[in-house]
Amino acid sequence: MLDDRLFADRVAIVTGGGTGLGLEVSKGLLRCGARAVVVMSRNPDHHREIAAFGATTGGTVETRALDVREPDRVHEAFAEVAERYGRLDIVIANAAGNFVVPSLRMRSKAWRAVIDIALSGAFFTCQAAGRQMEQRGGGSIVTIGATYAWTGMPGVVHSAAAKAGVLAITRSLAVEWAPLGIRVNCVAPGPFHSHGAEQNLWPDEASRQNLLRSMPNGRFLDVEEVARHVLYLASPLAAGVNGECFVVDGGQSLGRPWHAKDAPIG
Ligand code: NAP
Repeated sequence: MLDDRLFADRVAIVTGGGTGLGLEVSKGLLRCGARAVVVMSRNPDHHREIAAFGATTGGTVETRALDVREPDRVHEAFAEVAERYGRLDIVIANAAGNFVVPSLRMRSKAWRAVIDIALSGAFFTCQAAGRQMEQRGGGSIVTIGATYAWTGMPGVVHSAAAKAGVLAITRSLAVEWAPLGIRVNCVAPGPFHSHGAEQNLWPDEASRQNLLRSMPNGRFLDVEEVARHVLYLASPLAAGVNGECFVVDGGQSLGRPWHAKDAPIG
């Protein structure tokens, strides 16, 4: 389904596209024929792998140091990309930050840091995308949420609040911008391995095991399993899908059996 011509001639921006899910999506866009993928994040060290990968494909990879918390710079960068390539078809609002901290001890600085990146940064990204897409006949935006946007999650209230906002942004803009030919959808992943997640969400074996127990199938997701849904939603295959949130969590958000840990299945 995701064939090597799916994104032929398309130009995409992926925020946080140098690591984890963003990296996998950026590679997927190139594998499926994208003309150019522009990766934007703060740390240029994170851009090496996608730049090297780009050299092995027919597409162009451009990388830019950008902080999504700076709206003027985000708007400027998106306008430059659209101007240079004459189009902007796909934007993946993937950049985020998160860490576990008990809410009673959370400092205001920690709250603001996560809200600034994961919520405000996602909005500035969508807004900059929308302004360029409006002038060029439309496009497709995919935001990255999390299922704790609606289930809640102890220890990450800042991120849960931000992701609830991301879902609200997705649904609001999907309807507001549909007349402009712009689709806005969301993917809400369950836990998957990435450097950021391993460092900040399950930094030790005990927390990793705890989280694993919440997975009905007993494993974390592969990043490819999540990326595939982002690519699908970004693509013309999903032309009729707008304002949707795809949950890719192996059933985690539906919960574990409450009655017995060794309850018989068959
Ligand atoms: P990751 O590898 O840490 O990716 C986060 C990316 O965001 C990094 O490339 C980082 O690059 C970029 N970033 C952070 N702050 C930024 C800023 N201010 N401006 C621009 N870029 C910034 O983590 P990931 O696990 O792949 O996360 C990707 C997405 O999936 C996030 O939206 C996350 O909330 C979501 N998610 C992840 C999980 C999971 O289990 N991993 C579960 C649910 C949802 P720089 O450091 O170079 O800026």
